Amino acid sequence: MKKIILTGDRPTGRLHIGHYVGSLKKRVELQNSGNYDEIYIEIADAQALTDNADNPEKIRQNVIEIVLDYLACGIDPSKTNIFVQSAVPELTELTFYYLNLVTVSRLERNPTVKDEIKLRGFQTSIPAGFLIYPVSQAADITAFKATTVPVGEDQLPMIEQTKEIVKSFNNTYGNTLVKPEALLPENETCSRLPGLDGNAKMSKSLGNCIYLSDSKEVIEKKIMSMFTDPTHLKISDPGHTENNPVFTYLDAFCKDEHFTKYLPEYKNLDELKDHYRKGGLGDMKIKRFLNDVMQDTIGPIREKRNYWEKHIPEVYQIIKEGTNKARQKAIQTTNEVKAAMGINYFEDENWIKEQQEKFNQE
Ligand code: ATP
Ligand code: MG
Repeated sequence: MKKIILTGDRPTGRLHIGHYVGSLKKRVELQNSGNYDEIYIEIADAQALTDNADNPEKIRQNVIEIVLDYLACGIDPSKTNIFVQSAVPELTELTFYYLNLVTVSRLERNPTVKDEIKLRGFQTSIPAGFLIYPVSQAADITAFKATTVPVGEDQLPMIEQTKEIVKSFNNTYGNTLVKPEALLPENETCSRLPGLDGNAKMSKSLGNCIYLSDSKEVIEKKIMSMFTDPTHLKISDPGHTENNPVFTYLDAFCKDEHFTKYLPEYKNLDELKDHYRKGGLGDMKIKRFLNDVMQDTIGPIREKRNYWEKHIPEVYQIIKEGTNKARQKAIQTTNEVKAAMGINYFEDENWIKEQQEKFNQE
């Protein structure tokens, strides 16, 4: 069986460091591993409209922004097809068929959707399209026969839902769809990076982000005003490293070589944490270190982004070609789906013959 990757992002804003450690970094590694036969990255604009119907301009403005982030992080269009969801209408068609295999109560139980409904204040009036977006994600994943979906933890319920749909479809209509597996980052912290405010997850819609495209100055300012441990008032006070986003970000980003380079009095993060817990280590010092680590990580990404920002017509060509290729694959799968369901009337010559024979026998 072919090994195929599908992932994507909603063009609701530029990509942030949560995307980078949660999914983007892995995508680049997998892309360059040479172990995959096909790789697709979807710009999920139709999905983004399910909770931004009143602001399509926001989506329109962010499509190119996130492609720039992909290219900046090392996504290589000669190996990976970047495509735009709404330009592949077969995905909507598949969603419509899959919806019949899912109950409303099952959709209402999805924990990520539940959280997002609360965050977006949709409790009293949930847009129907928003409630069913996990089914549209199942369409996205299965249209490409994806075996592997590198995602952050918030996407696990979506992969579960997809597996259920695949099982139900294959049982009802015959073996057609491929069951995908989620691929989470090895480092647990990376699968759900918290926001700068220390609450919830870092999320474009919440504005609690360090963006991959932020300038050096903006990153420094954001880090220096970060929430830390509220009980650590004086330098001599013992501090907490859990639920302290400065340490969480260090968990996600810093390597031992960063200590050699910027903080040689400590060997590694464990030593730094021990000192903080004992007391005697100030927040400013760890924030300055975190800033060095982040600048080291984001600097090269920003540089590549600057290059692509000056080559927008090429970027346009990349997504146009990627979308064409993705569409061919989605058409192929949709044809198979319709054949399995027996609703491929105009491709199935037997259908009309059978209809005539039925009347001849009467
Ligand atoms: P939105 O607020 O519009 O939903 P988002 O920040 O949640 O935006 P998505 O486009 O929904 O971003 O997510 C794209 C991918 O990035 C998914 O695989 C998701 O799991 C991953 N991801 C998003 N936020 C984080 C995070 N804070 N930590 C780790 N992974 C994340
Ligand atoms: Mg999201």
